[in-house]
Amino acid sequence: MPGRFICDRCGDTIPPHAHYVVKIQVYADPSLPAVTTDDLEETDYDARVSDLLKEMEHLSEEELENAVHWQREFKVCRPCQLRLLRDPLGAGPPPSSPP
Ligand SMILES: [Zn+2]
Repeated sequence: MPGRFICDRCGDTIPPHAHYVVKIQVYADPSLPAVTTDDLEETDYDARVSDLLKEMEHLSEEELENAVHWQREFKVCRPCQLRLLRDPLGAGPPPSSPP
């Protein structure tokens, strides 16, 4: 049916023109903090780099690309849009808020 979409979140059919588009981009922060001489002396960079390389050995090419930049576009229904706005990261309510 043209104009109709299936909600990517709950799987319900969305009536024409009632869907919301959700764009998610996850990428490594390109702004590196300034490194001071003190930082360099305190941190064992060789160990950190070899740890990182060990971690990367287990990742597929796709996972490595996603580690740098991941982007998706979803279509959702109105109830899912409301839920996403309330909890964009899907982490549940913050511990301090009442149930
Ligand atoms: Zn939905």
